[in-house]
Amino acid sequence: MFCKIDFLPLLGIESDEAEAQIWAFLCSLERNGQILKEYNLIKGEHYTAYVTLPHPDSFDRRHDGVYVRRERERLCEHFDCILLPLGENLSSQPYCECETHTAIEMQTYDRDIDSVFTCCDCGKPIALYRLPIPAEKQEDFSIVQYWQENYAAMDLLWMNCLCDRYTGNQRVKHDSALNKQGRAIAKSMSEKLGCPVYYHLECDYGKSVQAEQVGDLQIHICPGCQTTMKRIRFSADYERDICEACGLSYDAH
Ligand SMILES: [Zn+2]
Ligand SMILES: [Zn+2]
Repeated sequence: MFCKIDFLPLLGIESDEAEAQIWAFLCSLERNGQILKEYNLIKGEHYTAYVTLPHPDSFDRRHDGVYVRRERERLCEHFDCILLPLGENLSSQPYCECETHTAIEMQTYDRDIDSVFTCCDCGKPIALYRLPIPAEKQEDFSIVQYWQENYAAMDLLWMNCLCDRYTGNQRVKHDSALNKQGRAIAKSMSEKLGCPVYYHLECDYGKSVQAEQVGDLQIHICPGCQTTMKRIRFSADYERDICEACGLSYDAH
């Protein structure tokens, strides 16, 4: 849901301080997954932010994380925050409404603004604030967003035809620095949720990724443990090869 938030001033406050407070509030919302990345703050008669919410009620206080609560309290001393829905943001996907998840997949790509966690039951992204934080002693999802930014940067360099060995290997190899960072997050999320969280690997169509003929199907060999993966159909157009032991998945083809 694409929305605007008007910040209507209640009391006199220096412009620089007002701006800093609003930016801090928006940043805390993003780090908790209550707004998606790529938002704008506009200064007109008053300050207005243009944001995308994963769910229509994502801006409600009941979803606030520790940092959002703190920043909202500070901000509300000086501003009334008025949310107005403007329409559907077509750069974002509809979000998962499932109460529980049988399994989750972790994946992203260069221009992805959505959550990196996909519900395998409905095939839609899961708003971050609905999930546990996959790191100890942290109160927001910045660790997930740093990985997403790293992945997007690597993917963009590769897609824009730099095509060098480094960016290729970072995306494809199960034990590259980029994929190790992501797999640690997926493992922690899986432990906290008590359901499998598969880390999705890119396939480089034959260079290093192995497959085996099983009947009519070409099934991937897991690069972590060298066993034949399991073909799973999560829903009509959502099929993957997975290794439960290593927590990895590939597109099925
Ligand atoms: Zn779902
Ligand atoms: Zn494996």
